[in-house]
Amino acid sequence: MKFVPRQLGDAADNSKGGKEGWRSRLKGILSAAIILSIFYVILGFIADISVNLVSEESESEWFAWVDDVVLVGAQEPSPELQAIFDQLIADSDLRPFEYRLFVLVDPMPNAFALPGGTVTVTTGLLDLVETEIGRAMVLSHELGHLEHRHGLKRLGRSLLLAVGMSMVGLDSSALLKQSSFLAEMKHSRSQEEESDTFGLNLIYAKYGTTEGAFEFFEDIHLLEGEDGTSLVEGVQSWAHTHPLTENRLTNLRRQAVELER
Ligand SMILES: [Zn+2]
Repeated sequence: MKFVPRQLGDAADNSKGGKEGWRSRLKGILSAAIILSIFYVILGFIADISVNLVSEESESEWFAWVDDVVLVGAQEPSPELQAIFDQLIADSDLRPFEYRLFVLVDPMPNAFALPGGTVTVTTGLLDLVETEIGRAMVLSHELGHLEHRHGLKRLGRSLLLAVGMSMVGLDSSALLKQSSFLAEMKHSRSQEEESDTFGLNLIYAKYGTTEGAFEFFEDIHLLEGEDGTSLVEGVQSWAHTHPLTENRLTNLRRQAVELER
């Protein structure tokens, strides 16, 4: 076969409309970014509205299998830890889930909530936080994620995005795979703050004080670098699912002062 050099045409002519070309390209990128952002915000709204239509009973039923998959080898909590949890969920206005608490044997200090009402803490966290109110604060923060249905909302958004991608012919399998590892729920900063506020109010309602409640947050903060990244390998797990900023701790302390007033 004979090699025929391609005609480069206008594309190779740098002298022609260079600036204009870049400008229109930049405009194109910007408008695509704006359209995508708007699309993402709309998806978020639809996901949040749809989640509110789901009953707690359905959520528990849908995610009943999750415990078996994510919590392989998990242990029952000690009676002391279970008692703290029971006290938090007793006669409060929490969503009517079937709340369950598990302990995972893992040296990484971590805690997370799974849709349907399951809260999990690691042995690493229990080693780090030994006071009752310190542990109660971690548990009630996780209850905050369940109360606000953060896990379900995140999942709903991913599903809608996957449907949208499929509709325009894009492959969404990587996205679904990524969002399906429920145990590694990564929440947004605003979701973390929402759960902090919820947790703090629950602590105050149950204990009449918030003193000592930030034990875990302060310990973790000491172990984190200026930029929020972990200085010690052991806290990476928690830092990944719960980015803790200076702001977050300051907010918690400010809210505590207001509550105690
Ligand atoms: Zn959290």
